[in-house]
Amino acid sequence: MKAHVSIVRCPEYELSAVEAAVRQACDAAGFPEVKGKTVLLKPNILKVAEPDSAVCTHPLVLRAAIRYARSQGAARVLVGDSPGFQAGNSAFRKSGLLDATLEEGAEWVDFSDGIQVENPEGKLVKNFTVARAAMEADVLVSLCKLKNHSLMYYTGAMKNLFGCIPGLQKPQFHMRFPDRSHFGQMLTDLNLALKCEFSLMDAIVGMEGPGPGSGFPRKIGAILASRDPLALDRTACGIIGLDPRLVANLEDALGRGAWIGSDAEIEVLGTKVEELRIDDWKQVPREISTRRGFPPALRNLFVGRPFFSRKACSACGACVAICPGKSLTFAGDPKARAKKRIKVDYETCIRCYCCHEVCPEDAIVVRRMRPVGGEW
Ligand code: SF4
Ligand code: SF4
Repeated sequence: MKAHVSIVRCPEYELSAVEAAVRQACDAAGFPEVKGKTVLLKPNILKVAEPDSAVCTHPLVLRAAIRYARSQGAARVLVGDSPGFQAGNSAFRKSGLLDATLEEGAEWVDFSDGIQVENPEGKLVKNFTVARAAMEADVLVSLCKLKNHSLMYYTGAMKNLFGCIPGLQKPQFHMRFPDRSHFGQMLTDLNLALKCEFSLMDAIVGMEGPGPGSGFPRKIGAILASRDPLALDRTACGIIGLDPRLVANLEDALGRGAWIGSDAEIEVLGTKVEELRIDDWKQVPREISTRRGFPPALRNLFVGRPFFSRKACSACGACVAICPGKSLTFAGDPKARAKKRIKVDYETCIRCYCCHEVCPEDAIVVRRMRPVGGEW
């Protein structure tokens, strides 16, 4: 069965241009019937970051999506997400997404209120606790961003829905599934449970390098849309020159029967992938997938680990709070926190890179070897 992925050029974040591109992409890809319904838009709000940093879905894309949903007759438009580490509303405010929501007359919803859902078709997870709003809305839309991801190599429409797991329950999944392939299967299970009907991708500026939180903005110049999130993600991989077979969740999802079963089923409408392809996109370095059950010395040689910059660290504590392995502490005596020294236990560290994702100061790098210089 063919899955349509619509690609529309959009060279910059200018509201009328973004609105036109979103409208064209959604029309072409077949936006679901939403007349009289409640639509939930789920942007990617990873952490506290400015719109230009390419960490979060851009607020102009959210504005355009709200206007489009309204134009299709939606009775209510809701917006929500649960960042990796949430300190009040700071991530929602700094990203510009909270203001965009309220100024457009949509409703901000709290993702900390969870509800249990059965997932009989799940391979690894038969039961999730997810944000109540994501289950109760009539139509869920993944309003994602095209970015690199240090663990999964890529994040787009399907990985974006991991934010529907409330708050600090997310790191527990890293603890349960530290291996990349198992984590990918869990993500596919989650997508089955959530039944997202449409995906709209902000690929006007994406993130290359050490994403999803500390990479570099890179202009791509497009909006993508599809009813099939797997088809959209595999198409987006083509734009950045990434083999989708390397992305564990995108490979696992091919065999589940809910989305495309092969790339041959993708039909791209509008701009061709080849016209946008970026040949020198900075990819995440490939590594072996074994994380636990490997002698620590060998693991250190083959699997990247986090190193902390004393110079850049502001001692906010986000990495310590989110670490699923409880591998991070403020070192030494009570004054150590003031000296911003993070101590890492590399024996218990599962290399999930949650610390790297949430650090607001880009004070963490993932490397196999300690970076040169005295600050690390
Ligand atoms: S130290 Fe970082 S990479 Fe290691 S387990 Fe903790 S959050 Fe994950
Ligand atoms: S390394 Fe980053 S996340 Fe951790 S305490 Fe320092 S600034 Fe905060």
